[in-house]
Amino acid sequence: MIKINFHINEVCNYCCKYCFRDKSIFTIKGIYKQVLDNLKESGLVEVVNIVGGEPTYNKELLLEILNYCKQIGLKTTIVTNGLRLARDNEFLQEVCKYVECIGVSIDSFDTNINLQLGRHDRNNDTLTYQDVKLLNETIEYALSGKQIQPIIRSPL
Ligand code: SF4
Repeated sequence: MIKINFHINEVCNYCCKYCFRDKSIFTIKGIYKQVLDNLKESGLVEVVNIVGGEPTYNKELLLEILNYCKQIGLKTTIVTNGLRLARDNEFLQEVCKYVECIGVSIDSFDTNINLQLGRHDRNNDTLTYQDVKLLNETIEYALSGKQIQPIIRSPL
């Protein structure tokens, strides 16, 4: 069985200087059901790895696609820069209901390095070590099928 990368949009909340994405406004919104149906019918694909751009950029679209994959019997994983999940615990909990795994891309825990690389959003917000630790704990807890604990943000 194959795991495929499914690029759902090209937009991103980060500004990485090395990013090679096509900065178009492409979105798979209007056609994703047909594409996923075809993948399912092929009988070759077991897991859909949802990527971007940044797959959490459009919350409703991501949740719609995760839900549709579940309906038609495709497993899902996502790869994300993690910032929107770290800042929105309700969204994180929703995503965890569907996925088998969440991959978070991290270049550094040093905020200055992240700012130099462009690994931040328009408000210069970026993932800290504490964010990643809390994300990891919450995701592990959620994916182990237990009730999800709220993220409690502690001062750095
Ligand atoms: S997080 Fe990924 S998609 Fe977004 S700007 Fe950086 S490299 Fe590009």
